[in-house]
Amino acid sequence: MGVLRLLLWDQLSASISCLKDCDKARDIIFIPELDEMATYVAHHQKKLVFLFSAMRHFAQTLKNEGFVVDYLALDSSQNSGDLSSEIQKALNRHQLTHVIVTEPSELWLQDKLFELQKAGYQVSMYQDTRFLCSRQQFSKWASSRKQLRMEYFYRHMRVEHDILMDGANPVGGKWNFDSDNRKPPEKNMRFPAHFTMEMDEITISVSKLVEKRYGHHFGDIHPFYLAVTRDGAKQALALFIEERLPYFGDYQDAMIEGQAWMYHSHLSFYINCGLLDAMECILAAQEAYYNHKAPINAVEGFIRQILGWREYVNGIYWLYMPDYQKKNHLGATRSLPEFFWSGKTKMNCLKQCVHETKQHAYAHHIQRLMVLGNFALIAGLHPDEVNEWYHIVYADAYQWVELPNVSGMVLYADGGLLASKPYAAGGSYIKKMSNYCQNCAYKVAEKTGEKACPFNYLYWDFLARNRQNLQSNPRIGMMYRTYDRMNDEKKIAIKRDSERFLEELK
Ligand code: FAD
Ligand code: SF4
Repeated sequence: MGVLRLLLWDQLSASISCLKDCDKARDIIFIPELDEMATYVAHHQKKLVFLFSAMRHFAQTLKNEGFVVDYLALDSSQNSGDLSSEIQKALNRHQLTHVIVTEPSELWLQDKLFELQKAGYQVSMYQDTRFLCSRQQFSKWASSRKQLRMEYFYRHMRVEHDILMDGANPVGGKWNFDSDNRKPPEKNMRFPAHFTMEMDEITISVSKLVEKRYGHHFGDIHPFYLAVTRDGAKQALALFIEERLPYFGDYQDAMIEGQAWMYHSHLSFYINCGLLDAMECILAAQEAYYNHKAPINAVEGFIRQILGWREYVNGIYWLYMPDYQKKNHLGATRSLPEFFWSGKTKMNCLKQCVHETKQHAYAHHIQRLMVLGNFALIAGLHPDEVNEWYHIVYADAYQWVELPNVSGMVLYADGGLLASKPYAAGGSYIKKMSNYCQNCAYKVAEKTGEKACPFNYLYWDFLARNRQNLQSNPRIGMMYRTYDRMNDEKKIAIKRDSERFLEELK
């Protein structure tokens, strides 16, 4: 008897483990478009077009290769929108009893499959070998350590996978070239045009479907430029390696008004849904270094993001879920302000980042961390609402990667499990790394008062509010000493301005 091989929307890889031993003559590959996937958070419209179109293209590729595919379209009258019932219906339709699936990337999906098992269905979950460190391997690595710092995990992964290694030593003599990667933007910088793939008939038809059903979700569908096939994603990778990688390191943290793409790779969309393989991206960057096409600070920086950070957050997610999503170490309670959706704020940095997010379903790391995230942290926004927002708005967002980045890296909600200190900063960081402040209604040089940059007083107010939780942290203790040296007048002004600002936040 054959087997039903289930593919979820972020499992669009021909090399995925659940297809490894697929018997073309007897097995059915089941690919369902599900309303519950589109709405368990109200995903950005561009993200939905991207994923549903990529699914349809992938199904076509599999059919062309001779696989039997049962594709359930979102608008099929038979589609209940629910994963569990559609699996059961597919088993009945094909008179099968056994489902094989690669382990889902999010816990709620895995739980649904366990429920089916409990109900008596035969469900086999294969390891997701697209991650370079399995959940078991991460857990083993973590078990022998007091602190799970990414840097040590990353070194372990470099050795394990023999990436940028010169025997037992790191190529270039250092594990990490991050100190070379903090250049502020320069005047008149020019960037290569970002990768664009025209919409084909499939994507156009999906975009109409998404507009009709999910037109009330956040975000713009057009302009749509994302690749929706493996070939397209491979082109995007090749273009990044050739045009952007050489400068990736130098300007990794820089932000410029109107420049959403900078020298970043814009590959997370493709890696996370399976159109690109993490290791092929790493090897392409390594090859560029050995062929003298990109310097070590750029190549090491890029590889660290994928071999280090990406694998690490996946490991953290599976090690600490489901408790991780409930964490709120700093006891933050404030609701997400409306401007996270509308972009209507006088704070230019936030306005720019929200607008770019709405238009592209993308913002680069420093925009997510040091502008949007920094604000969420120092304004004391509730982790649930911040997590939901990040999960909705980015086309690369899935809970396994969004949650540790938001609750761990941005909000310090896990109490320092992931980050050794909160990434809180005043306006001077944003001024140094961007040109946003030039066109802002607030004055970054002013620390308190009506015109002062809100990041300036909120930063100190955040430290004062969270003293009990943070003071003993050696990486932040110095800031408390600075705060304590301020005169009372200044401290009162910080508190007054913060309270006024937060009170007016809607
Ligand atoms: P590049 O800057 O070119 O980096 C190369 C690749 O490294 C990325 O494509 C990505 O695969 C990987 N990477 C880099 N940083 C991280 C990281 N911190 N965690 C995991 N992978 C990383 N990344 C997501 O893929 N999905 C998310 O939902 C997501 N949410 C985030 C939320 C916050 C608050 C923060 C601070 C970061 C988040 N990131 C997320 C990480 C990072 O910002 C994005 O991976 C990156 O901006 C994607 O753009 P890029 O492909 O141009 O990345
Ligand atoms: Fe952002 Fe402050 Fe600069 Fe305005 S002045 S852009 S609020 S950092």
